[in-house]
Amino acid sequence: MIYFQSLTKDELADLILPLSKVKRPRFDAAAQLSAEDLAQLEADLEKKAQRQSKYRAQQIFHWVYQRFVTEWDGMTDLSKELREWLKGNVEIFRLKEHVSHQALDGTHKFLWDLSDKKTIESVIIPAALQEKKSIEGEALADDQDEDAEEFAEGQRFSGRQTQANIKTDFKRLTACISSQVGCAMACKFCLTGVQGLDRHLEAHEIVTQVFELRKVAPITNIVFMGMGEPLHNLQNVIKACKIMLDQDGLNFSKRKITVSTSGLVPAIEELGRSVDISLAISLNASNDEQRSAIMPVNKKWNIEALLNACRNYPLGSHRRITFEYVMLKDFNDSVDDAARVVKLIRGIPSKLNLIPFNEHSGSVYKRPSDEVVKKFQRFLLDRNVTATVRISRGRDISAACGQLRSIFGTARGSERHKDWAPSAMSPVSAGAATEIAARD
Ligand code: SAH
Ligand code: SF4
Repeated sequence: MIYFQSLTKDELADLILPLSKVKRPRFDAAAQLSAEDLAQLEADLEKKAQRQSKYRAQQIFHWVYQRFVTEWDGMTDLSKELREWLKGNVEIFRLKEHVSHQALDGTHKFLWDLSDKKTIESVIIPAALQEKKSIEGEALADDQDEDAEEFAEGQRFSGRQTQANIKTDFKRLTACISSQVGCAMACKFCLTGVQGLDRHLEAHEIVTQVFELRKVAPITNIVFMGMGEPLHNLQNVIKACKIMLDQDGLNFSKRKITVSTSGLVPAIEELGRSVDISLAISLNASNDEQRSAIMPVNKKWNIEALLNACRNYPLGSHRRITFEYVMLKDFNDSVDDAARVVKLIRGIPSKLNLIPFNEHSGSVYKRPSDEVVKKFQRFLLDRNVTATVRISRGRDISAACGQLRSIFGTARGSERHKDWAPSAMSPVSAGAATEIAARD
């Protein structure tokens, strides 16, 4: 069986081409066609068949990705013969929900079972300050950064409690998806890094995360910031992005899909050549010594090589690279660090996303105080660097990278990390659970 979600529209069209029925014109037995005319006729018929199979592929994409029909028999405008063939040869993949949790701030986290019983996670993150309805005392900014949120004066860097409905009340809903089971890059501060790499995800497993989340809520943005290093699984990620970008498929714009990488330089170059999407770089340090201490990948491609790849990345107009900077207490959070960061990224169209470390028992690092984070941000803003602080979302459900899987899943070391189940963890509210159960 071929998984439907592993096929681009063109690949699907090629696959069903032999099933395209094109009527041959009837000829008078006496009519004599020249060899040239015959060849022309064959070429015309072939073209017609190709047009037809392309049209069928488009119809099928609409049925699945836009109307959420996952049974071939439900696709009423396809011929019976084509449907039968599809039933026998192509499977519409689904992810099985192992567990899901909704945080008080609206963040919704899913742990999925794969066919081989391995687990991955994806998260829906509503934009904290972007509920459609105005919130008393807080201004709504339309032009907010795509994946970070400015904090209001006096607000703490954690998600605000909300009663808003995830299906209807948010202008922006970001799907944070996984690209691998685990990760091989072994960053010292990262829980997925502690778990190690189990396997790459196939394209259909990546695409289907977005498909399932879209069934839950009207996702507007996708970030590859869940488990795994997307550029270590480059070909499957490229294929998945093509399907997400396809207007007949998941129909996201190139500005709304962001691939985040720890810095695999040759893969950044290939990504730029292969697909037009946005790029985020986990910088996380202000010099090579510091970066190599927490991110082994830096020993292979250092900051200079990484930033050169960023300079050469085909961004197009009005787009910027996002630099992520996980802030670790007394490690990379000083004003001297901020000064070095300003120098490093000068001249690269970019924005800096400061992420106060999400503490977990798999790491010795601590989260800096909000005051330290604000001071760091102020230093950057004063030097005209666009710097936002990522509000930590879903902290009551362990929505940080790799955490849910460690608690419920099959991650190596899950015994060791049992204490990560936070006391405030709330199971999905009854209403949400009903909605999830109701989706077919
Ligand atoms: N492998 C990719 C994408 C997944 S990690 C990458 O490294 O870019 C997504 C982001 O989460 C990265 O910027 C990473 O630095 C950050 N991150 C990982 N663990 C974290 C933690 N415990 N607290 C805060 N950010 C973390
Ligand atoms: Fe992998 Fe990213 Fe975690 Fe590093 S930060 S271990 S690259 S998932």
